[in-house]
Amino acid sequence: PGSVVFEKNFNLKTQIKMKRLMLCGVLCMGICMSVQGQETKKYPEPAPMQPEMSEFWTPQPKIVVPPDMDQAIITPPSDAIVLLGLDAESADEWVNCDPNKAVEWEVEQGVMTVKPSSGSIRTKREFGDFQLHVEWSAPTEIVGESQGRGNSGVFMQGIYEVQILDNYGNETYANGQAGSIYKQTPPLVNACQKPGKWNTYDIIYTAPRFKEDGSLQSHGRITVLHNGVLVQNNTMILGTTEYIGFPRIVAHGKGPIILQDHLNPVRFRNIWIREL
Ligand code: MG
Repeated sequence: PGSVVFEKNFNLKTQIKMKRLMLCGVLCMGICMSVQGQETKKYPEPAPMQPEMSEFWTPQPKIVVPPDMDQAIITPPSDAIVLLGLDAESADEWVNCDPNKAVEWEVEQGVMTVKPSSGSIRTKREFGDFQLHVEWSAPTEIVGESQGRGNSGVFMQGIYEVQILDNYGNETYANGQAGSIYKQTPPLVNACQKPGKWNTYDIIYTAPRFKEDGSLQSHGRITVLHNGVLVQNNTMILGTTEYIGFPRIVAHGKGPIILQDHLNPVRFRNIWIREL
């Protein structure tokens, strides 16, 4: 009978130990799983963006016949920094956006022409708030359609594009037209001149402001007159002007003016800027 009591006691003690061990095991597994869960918790991935997802075609901006700016040359005011003079023979104020390349755009008698595939160019100087005057002319030989025709662009602080495009008898998505804040805000009207004629852009730009931690304090603002016709009226710039995807907020300081090489030989003349 002594051995029976012993066996009973042994069994009881063993059972209690086993239960404790199992309890510990379950607790450990639980903790491990919850830690693992935090590391591997998955949220749904956003759907991959396609360019067309940020392009809208209607309503098309109304066409207005603008003043003829060919002869109405707005010469630089005395306090302007001249970025391309009326009789310039070289692109002194400009460098290639690729620091390993030189500017290959041709400059002759004040007219600077995009050399396709040679790269976009940027001013050596950097700017904050400003008033900018740019004149551009689309190639007379019409090649391509929609975004493929007379495409270039002028970028505020290197990242916010006001579209340059031959929109004369050439439709494209509304928020990619000449005078649009590219893929954000269409121009109020289509004030394009014929290919070969000169167009003017007069741009008043207020840079976005950022807090010390890099977050946005206030959006950038832009007013654009195309051939003297208002096409952007103190428009809020939502962020970077992306070809694919949504505007992004990126903290930055002063930045250059960029002219885009979009593979079309668009011409420029009489570019000047007044810092504000
Ligand atoms: Mg462009």
